[in-house]
Amino acid sequence: MRCVILGAGLMGRLMALALARQGHAVEVFDAQGADAMGAAARIAAAMLAPLAESAITETSVVRMGHHSLSRWGELLRELPEPVFSQRNGSLIVWHRQDAPLAKQFEQMLRQTARDCPELPPLEKADGTRMADLEPSLAGRFTQGMYLPGEGQLDNRGLLEALLRALQGQANVSLHWQSPRTPDDFDLSARDAPDWLIDCRGLGARDRLRLRGVRGEVIRLYAPDVTLQRPTRLLHPRYPIYIAPKPNHLFVIGATEIESEDLSEASVRSTLELLSAAYTVHPGFGEARIMEIATQARPTLTDNLPCITLHGPRHVSLNGLYRHGFLISPAMLDAALEWMQTQTTEWALRWGLRVEHEPHH
Ligand SMILES: Cc1cc2nc3c(=O)[nH]c(=O)nc-3n(C[C@H](O)[C@H](O)[C@H](O)COP(=O)(O)OP(=O)(O)OC[C@H]3O[C@@H](n4cnc5c(N)ncnc54)[C@H](O)[C@@H]3O)c2cc1C
Repeated sequence: MRCVILGAGLMGRLMALALARQGHAVEVFDAQGADAMGAAARIAAAMLAPLAESAITETSVVRMGHHSLSRWGELLRELPEPVFSQRNGSLIVWHRQDAPLAKQFEQMLRQTARDCPELPPLEKADGTRMADLEPSLAGRFTQGMYLPGEGQLDNRGLLEALLRALQGQANVSLHWQSPRTPDDFDLSARDAPDWLIDCRGLGARDRLRLRGVRGEVIRLYAPDVTLQRPTRLLHPRYPIYIAPKPNHLFVIGATEIESEDLSEASVRSTLELLSAAYTVHPGFGEARIMEIATQARPTLTDNLPCITLHGPRHVSLNGLYRHGFLISPAMLDAALEWMQTQTTEWALRWGLRVEHEPHH
């Protein structure tokens, strides 16, 4: 088949590689460059935390996240170069005065565990266990929660490795600085592509009811800090996560603001993110600020992902919101299943929406 993919962010690159490896001819168009500067995926912390995220999302996303955790292992192994990833679990911490918040958070996660018994259960950690899990936090937090099996990966390493893999496929052609809309392709023409797959993220606003949710993140170089896994601070006003990447880099994130403003991070957000990180580990006081970045998460009206069928051979994969890395392997599997068999077994199993575009 001849497949055209619009958008080479996270979803577009994954789809393109999977289809190319199945032997299809794949053409990819992106509005910006191969460096993924136009993609939310370049800015993300890329945490893979289905249970932690269940405090703010639905069980469908949690189930997709659980499926994706093991699928990432396979997908990364097939790439031509190694991509940093880990599954050391997540650690949840809070300051003493925020204990009621922690109680509420725990109740939400216990409900998720009842709804999704396939997830490894959360473990409450006392001071000794905390020191064992994360020695550099010993004495600072006398209790916490440990969510085994959760993971994270290096988003930029992944985007680059996917690019290399695509460049190495003879049946893939990549077009950068080439914005396209579905209207640029007449699917009834004789030489039309067999499939048009729209992975434009926020760029698909012409077809979907999308909004951007602004997020600001800071990358720090902190040789004095060692963390074995992503750590989340519960806080009534400044909830943050700290995701340790290779070479003493840490991604501190993320704000969540109902706005599509992509201008530079505000002073308020920067102060909040950095102060909160410093309360978790004083070693961040001497860290170096490598980057402060802003992007918008592509979000549908109900904050949930959706496979939208615009016609028999035209499909959109969108609404990945703050969960693109968490759920994209599941989106990939569900989309490939639809394209190959016109069935939605995977989507039904997780509760992922597959919808016909109204008026089509
Ligand atoms: C601050 C922040 C933190 C995040 N943290 C996490 C996290 O920890 N875990 C997690 O799972 N997710 C996280 N995410 C979410 C994740 O980044 C997104 O869900 C994911 O990137 C969405 O993938 P996508 O392919 O749909 O869109 P994108 O990655 O945004 O890619 C869309 C692509 O389409 C291209 N495009 C747009 N218009 C056109 C056009 N007309 N023609 C051709 N190409 C076009 C763009 O240039 C871009 O390359 C975070 C996001 C942000 C902003």
